[in-house]
Amino acid sequence: MRPFSYTRAETVQDAVIALAADPGAQLLAGGTNLVDLMKYDVAHPTAIVDINRLPLKEIEDLPGGGLRIGALASNSAGASPQLRNAATTGGNLLQRTRCYYFYDPSTPCNKREPGSGCSAIGGTNRIHAILGASDKCIATHPSDMCVALAALGATVEVEGPDGRRDLAMTDFHRLPGDQPERDNTLAPGEMVTAIRLEGNHFARHHTYLKLRERLSYAFALVSVAAAIDIADGEIVDMRVALGGVAHKPWRDTLAEAEFAGQPADEDTFRGVAGRLLAAAKGQGSNDFKIPLAEKAIVRALRQAASGTPQDQVVKAVQ
Ligand code: SF4
Repeated sequence: MRPFSYTRAETVQDAVIALAADPGAQLLAGGTNLVDLMKYDVAHPTAIVDINRLPLKEIEDLPGGGLRIGALASNSAGASPQLRNAATTGGNLLQRTRCYYFYDPSTPCNKREPGSGCSAIGGTNRIHAILGASDKCIATHPSDMCVALAALGATVEVEGPDGRRDLAMTDFHRLPGDQPERDNTLAPGEMVTAIRLEGNHFARHHTYLKLRERLSYAFALVSVAAAIDIADGEIVDMRVALGGVAHKPWRDTLAEAEFAGQPADEDTFRGVAGRLLAAAKGQGSNDFKIPLAEKAIVRALRQAASGTPQDQVVKAVQ
């Protein structure tokens, strides 16, 4: 591990000033990803700014049934119990890809070292992207929570040197393009302070389906957050976000809108899957993800349409 300075921020403003003052500075909250990255010699912060004392742990009700979740609220629905108690909501957004090559400094990786190449293209790419990849990077974002937040149209509150701004969750993460080293659209010196969710009409028809190599403590190969507002058997509003398939939670609002007014049935759900995956492209070892995602979308929408909560006993994807 390389030397770095360590300071504790007492206010959000302190943290923003410290971040903006040193391009090599990184914030430390739960540290569940950052500390690993430092141990693997992947991340080399010159300064660590500990934000654990900031008053960002609250979860507040908002008028109209919404919620405001502080960036330091623990991520109690994820991973294993040890991680749940340390990992934070803001940190979940900022976690890095689990691409094996990214964590192995002996291999070329454009995300870790821009311009060095991508070992996953033409290499082992079972967990990699089928949508929105570039010829520089085919990594996926590993979060589950962000997929659900994207489906629900969450807003990310950000504080930076120029003050506060809101970012739509769907605009927070980015596709790799020519700059795979950039995971998100935060400007230098900006930090996440909260996530805001508005009230919605999806309480009766929603689900999150996650397909992974084992049934516990594993990242998604493919996941689907599905929510439908149904009236008289027809779709009034529908949200479908995919995880494990792209560099960001994958959502296509134009495609969703095309299905408004359609019957909430199997044919429509197959149509949704076909539309969302029309541009999907396998990389070799991950070709299986395309039919898997197709089945997962149909199953998630079927589950959501049949009512919430669903029977979680049947694990097979049919
Ligand atoms: Fe690096 Fe992205 Fe290629 Fe993985 S997919 S090796 S993170 S450039």
